This record gives sequence, C-alpha cells and structure tokens, in this order.
Amino acid sequence: MSCVTTQDRAVSINPTRSCAPIGAMLANYGIHGAITINHGSQGCATYPRHQMARHFREPVEVATTSLTEKTTVYGGKGNLLEALKNIWERFHPTMIMVCSTCLSETIGDDIPGTIDEFTDNHPEITIPIISVKTPSYIGNHTTGFDNFLKEIASNLPDKRKKKGETNGKINIIPGWVNPGDIRELKHIVREMGLHGLWLTDYSETLDGGYYEPRPHFARGGTTIEDLRSSSKSLATIAIQRYIGGEAAHIYERRYNVPAHVLTMPIGLANTDAFVDTLTEITDHQVPEALNVERARLLDAMVDTHMFTSGLRVALFGDPDLLEGLVGLVAEMGMTPAYVLTSSESKPWAERMVELTEELGVESEIIIKGDLHELHKRIKAKPVDLLIGHSKGKFIADDEKIPLLRMGFPVEDRFGYHRRSIVGYNGAISLVDEITNLLFERKASLVVSNTIVELGVEGPTSAPITFMNGKH
Ligand code: SF4
Repeated sequence: MSCVTTQDRAVSINPTRSCAPIGAMLANYGIHGAITINHGSQGCATYPRHQMARHFREPVEVATTSLTEKTTVYGGKGNLLEALKNIWERFHPTMIMVCSTCLSETIGDDIPGTIDEFTDNHPEITIPIISVKTPSYIGNHTTGFDNFLKEIASNLPDKRKKKGETNGKINIIPGWVNPGDIRELKHIVREMGLHGLWLTDYSETLDGGYYEPRPHFARGGTTIEDLRSSSKSLATIAIQRYIGGEAAHIYERRYNVPAHVLTMPIGLANTDAFVDTLTEITDHQVPEALNVERARLLDAMVDTHMFTSGLRVALFGDPDLLEGLVGLVAEMGMTPAYVLTSSESKPWAERMVELTEELGVESEIIIKGDLHELHKRIKAKPVDLLIGHSKGKFIADDEKIPLLRMGFPVEDRFGYHRRSIVGYNGAISLVDEITNLLFERKASLVVSNTIVELGVEGPTSAPITFMNGKH
C-alpha cells in the first residue's frame, strides 16, 4: 500500500523549491510585450533572473524597485510609483505586472493601492497593470505562477460578453512547462483542427531565434487582445491542477466558460485524457496523425518493457509534474518507489496515494521534503533511476544511479527547455531516454534485446540482466 510521509526536520538540506516571484515572472513572459516589476530588493529580481537564464538560455529582463534600508523602514510606495513611470516612458509595454516579494509583503506595502494612485494620476496610460502576491514564505515558485494566472483570469477577460458569443477557441493553461512542451501541445491542438488560446505562451519568448535588428519585445506570447477575448472561449483546459486549475474555475464561475482540469498529459493514458477532452468540447474526431503517434508510443513501450519492468524509480519535483510522470513510470512497468515534493499539499498527497493504488504500484509519497530526505531513503533502499531537476545530480553521483533531468531548473545540460515531455511524442522521447540511461548506467553491452552486464557495481534493487526478455 502507498503511504504519505512528511519531513519533520525544521531545517532544509538541499531544498527543491525556488522563490515565488519567479513563477509570476515566468508566466508573465508568456504575454507579448509585458514587463515585470519586482517590488523588493535587487536580489529578489536577480536571483529569479539568473535561475531563468540558466534554464532557458535567454536574456531575462525584469525591473526592480530596488528597496533599500530607508524604503524598508518608511515604505516603498515612492519607488514603485517611480518604477511604473520609468517603465512606461522607456518601454511602452503592453502590460505591467508588479509582483511582491518577502520584503514588500512583510513591510505591508499596498501594491494595488499604489497602482490605483498611479493610474488615477496618469489617465493617458490605459494598459493593464496588475499586481500579484508572491511572498516566498507562502508556498513556492508554483504558487507564484498560480497566483499570476488567477489575477489574469479575474482581471483581463472582457466581461461584456453577449449571450452565445464565442471566439471559437479553447483556453489552454499549460502551467509550468517548457517551451518545447507548449509547442507539442500546440501541435496536438492543430492536428485536431482546433484553435488554442494560450494562458500563457512563452514557447517563443523564452526560446526565440536570433533576429536583426533585435525586436523591441521578444517575438511571440499571447496578446492582450487574446486575453481580453478569453472570456468568449468554448472551454478552458488546465493541464496542471495546482497551477492553473483554480484559474480555469474562475473562467467557469465568472464568464460561464466550462472548466476541464486534467493531469499533466505525460504518458499514454494522460495524453489520451487530454485528446479525449478536446473531442468532448468540440465534435472534432481524433485525426490519423495522432493515432499514428499513439501507436508509435505503444510500440516503444513494448520494445523497451523487458529493460524497464520491475525497476524502482525515485522522483522529485513539483506536484503536477510528478502526478503526470507517475503515470508514465507505471506504464513502463516500473515502480515509483519514492515521490517527493517540497509542497505541503495534503490533498495532493492523498490523491497520489489513490492514483498509485489505481496504477497498481506501491509508493512512499513524501511532502514538504528536501533532497537530503530523498537521499536517506535511497541509501536505505536503493533505486535504479532518479528523475528530477539538476540538483539531483549529487545524489545520482554519490549513489551511481542515472538521473533523468526533468522540471526546473535544468542548468547543467543544454537544450532541455526545447524538448517536450508531453503528448505522445514527448512520451516516446522519455521512453527512449529512460531506456538509454539504464543501458549507460549498467555499462552494458546491448545486443538486440539482451543486456549483458559488464560488471559495474551499482545499487540495483531489481534484476536488469535479461536474456531475450526473460530473467
Ligand atoms: S527574499 Fe524572498 S522573494 Fe526575495 S529572493 Fe529571497 S525568497 Fe525570493
């Protein structure tokens, strides 16, 4: 039976979480011409910028109100008013998003009130200026992203919607994914003959080309006009429950746009659920091209099952990513032995227990956990594969197990932001990558479907030497 455990140490060792403003900044990058003002000290802008630049390999520009000792004592309102004016005069953005920080929240700066004062004094500035609460002591980077989406859903869509009026599109909230994932989702929607309205779309802004002259704003991103019309969409699909799920329900409650909140479409069943939802919303049938991709994924799983069946896997990361990944791991015949997140969400943990039991696998679900906690468990009872972001490399090196890099940040490999893990194509890539990592780890000689071990010692917990598919 699966179980839930919580880390009871007060101190974190090798935490897996980032700070909340980074989530809001990332989501804001998906709006064409939008600029972020980080209301806090300079470091609160620099840290997320560096994290994002290392992962996406793009310059990340964020403004800061540069709070100092004096503004910390007397309040940062003056700095914020000046920052809003400067940003408008220098860049003429399509939208400004002001996110708070630990500092500005703790001193109690009234960001919405300051924005109101600014817009009252500058009636000529008609772009949307929104504020997002992102103190890092409430939640983590995923909370920042989710709070941003809730603000967008509450404030941007056009409320003047006539009965039956529609833009013919489907709102799709990808959540915290990579640019390559958004492109793969777009491919599926396009193949279905549908039009997505992406909330939000950083597939190009954070994975752009080299253009001369450099455009004033990065190419791509959802336009403000599209965001305005999102209240007229046919439905909203959130592919992550904890990032965007609540925003989808806001669309349903406020604008009568039906909400569909799904598990991240990683693996066969989860991708089927996404495709089925698209067919439910419209009367479009699944095209042959997607059926072929699905069949290719099944074939890849059949071809590799003798190498992956029975292996134990440890996973760590954000709740939505883990929920999707566990499905694929089980479909490949592996056991997600440890599933660790820094999130404290008990409902998520309970859901994961149900899910793993439905999938017929036994897992320890660890909430509020850090990497030290995961390492302890792996030392006590080893696994064959570790899945998580780059910080897992220290465990992987120590225990001599392969690490499948996934999630955020991946900073010690190049181009991972471009690959996709969603959809049938994303799952095929994952099946290939997982199998190849297992081959490499065993330093094996692979002949046809036979692995011959070359005697490399490792903490294997399950047999991996197979002869023609048999132990
Ligand atoms: S003080 Fe808070 S908002 Fe600023 S960088 Fe640290 S965790 Fe992030």
